[in-house]
Amino acid sequence: AVKDQGRNGYLFFDSEMEQRSLERILLEYELKKAIELEQFYMDYQPKVDLSTGCLVGMEALVRWKHPELGRIAPNKFIPVAEDTGLIVPLGEWIMRRGCEQAVEWQRAGYPPVKLSINLSVRQLFEPDLLPQIKAVLKDTGLEPQWLEFEVTESVFADLEDASIILQQIRALGIHISMDDFGTGYSSFSYLQHLPIDTLKIDPSFVRDIHLKKESQAIVKGILSIAETLNLNVIAEGIETIEQLTVLSEDGCSQGQGYLFSRPLSSQQFENYLQQMQCNKTNS
Ligand code: C2E
Ligand code: MG
Ligand code: MG
Ligand code: MG
Repeated sequence: AVKDQGRNGYLFFDSEMEQRSLERILLEYELKKAIELEQFYMDYQPKVDLSTGCLVGMEALVRWKHPELGRIAPNKFIPVAEDTGLIVPLGEWIMRRGCEQAVEWQRAGYPPVKLSINLSVRQLFEPDLLPQIKAVLKDTGLEPQWLEFEVTESVFADLEDASIILQQIRALGIHISMDDFGTGYSSFSYLQHLPIDTLKIDPSFVRDIHLKKESQAIVKGILSIAETLNLNVIAEGIETIEQLTVLSEDGCSQGQGYLFSRPLSSQQFENYLQQMQCNKTNS
């Protein structure tokens, strides 16, 4: 900012602009265009049963490929989309595309796989969300039992409102999973009142679970409370056999991570479905 702004009365930068880097401004601008130009596509990462390796779900992860800037990571552009509200139209597109794809695979004859879609706080509190979800289900023909939303603990900063909305979503027959569990706001005592089905253990506990007693203790605590409250648990970010072994011994039944599969393109995921050995229906 200009130091002597008081002297000539001319303000070059206000403090808000000062904080936002040029890169950030460029991202906002490009993001707005990207939605119109449909530069996004979805990858799908398998979720598996840890004892059998069978597929139990797939998480849809958005990807942005900019014609000049190349691939831009979700951790970079999702926060910008959230701040600017662009996550609302983008999120609707993600939901629709994911559901279309799930139905496409079901109609091609593959066993149904539950689809998980990440939902931002901003989307959750958008008044139009419920009608939007209903419209997507109706238009795509996806049965709600095959859909799950992943929300982070940050939604529970507004515990009461979040609970009401999640309850409405659940009333449609859609499951709710708490993403990155253990890192955010919620305490164990909240859990018994929250309308959720699954706890998704944050990768930070999985990373050193085989090395650090503290991480293993936290995971054990999550597993134990989940069992009492009758919640499903899935461990995220499993990369090694060592991590898998400890998780399995501690009684974690489901997982996701590079050890099993990286996020796959639609085409790769379809190949995965084709080669799959377990053909029982997952739910
Ligand atoms: P998340 O929902 O917790 O997704 C898991 C992230 O961990 C994904 O990163 C995934 O590629 C990555 N991952 C999976 N397995 C492993 C592993 O074994 N090791 C490591 N190191 N990483 C693994 P990604 O796709 O870059 O997404 C990052 C975050 O961006 C997501 O975290 C989610 O918060 C957000 N995001 C991604 N797609 C969407 C979307 O469609 N909508 C919304 N609202 N947010 C999304
Ligand atoms: Mg997620
Ligand atoms: Mg996560
Ligand atoms: Mg995350």
